[in-house]
Amino acid sequence: MSTSLFDLSGRTALVTGSSRGLGRAIAEGMAKAGAKIIVNGVDPKRVEQAVAEFRAAGHQAEGAAFNVTDEPAIVAAFNDFDKKNIAVDIVVNNAGIQHRKPLVEFTTDEWRKVIETNLTSAFVIGREAAKRMIPRKHGKIINIGSLGSELARPTIAPYTAAKGGIKNLTRSMAVEWAQHGITANAIGPGYMLTDMNEALVNNTDFNNWLMGRIPSKRWGKPDELVGAAIFLASDASTYVNGQIIYVDGGMIAAM
Ligand code: NDP
Repeated sequence: MSTSLFDLSGRTALVTGSSRGLGRAIAEGMAKAGAKIIVNGVDPKRVEQAVAEFRAAGHQAEGAAFNVTDEPAIVAAFNDFDKKNIAVDIVVNNAGIQHRKPLVEFTTDEWRKVIETNLTSAFVIGREAAKRMIPRKHGKIINIGSLGSELARPTIAPYTAAKGGIKNLTRSMAVEWAQHGITANAIGPGYMLTDMNEALVNNTDFNNWLMGRIPSKRWGKPDELVGAAIFLASDASTYVNGQIIYVDGGMIAAM
């Protein structure tokens, strides 16, 4: 197999939540594979800084700071891409949040915020992207799921509901849009070293529990998602559709 199958030159990738964390690692990997990156996050200064760093490294990058729960802002961003003749070939729906507390203590507003940030955003952004990909007969959508797409753990009920939804939203996108040359797949990261897990990384009891369950016996590094992301964004995966690839050190397999 030629490595050119994984070449993303000439492609533009919108990666939500790419100002830091897993989205940043995925965006950097795609940039190294040749893609132009549209960097997104809520904080415009962090987005601006990330764009400057991508450009300083010799990559093509643009910033699009918007909140993925703000539908008018998403529609405006896509209209702006149209005006600038930026065709988004690859979308990575990565932006997400966690909120931990017992299920009986969650307010409905807290529930909605987690669902809207982790799940509804992927629907709205996927829809806006697909409207433009369908006439071009090409597109790659990658939704970021989680172990929570498959498993439940106490205190993260809305997150688990959202990530389970990501798995089936991905399948719905795949079955509706495959006829238009679009693939929609998901990546399910295991426990990765990012800000999201700051509180867990130094918790000894949690680490003891976790290391008993991950066959690889370690946390994942953000860069370890890059291979799956490039595969799903590239011509190497033209007949892979509606799948979720777990990048989890073997954790799901051990359950
Ligand atoms: P981080 O908290 O480290 O980074 C989150 C990123 O998302 C930041 O760029 C942040 O932007 C952005 N973001 C958050 N909320 C919004 C929003 N409403 N609109 C736009 N951007 C937003 O998270 P991770 O990198 O750890 O997680 C990324 C994804 O991976 C999430 O979907 C998460 O659920 C998933 N995941 C993570 C795992 C892990 O172990 N870390 C495991 C499984 C899944 P800003 O800088 O402006 O705040």
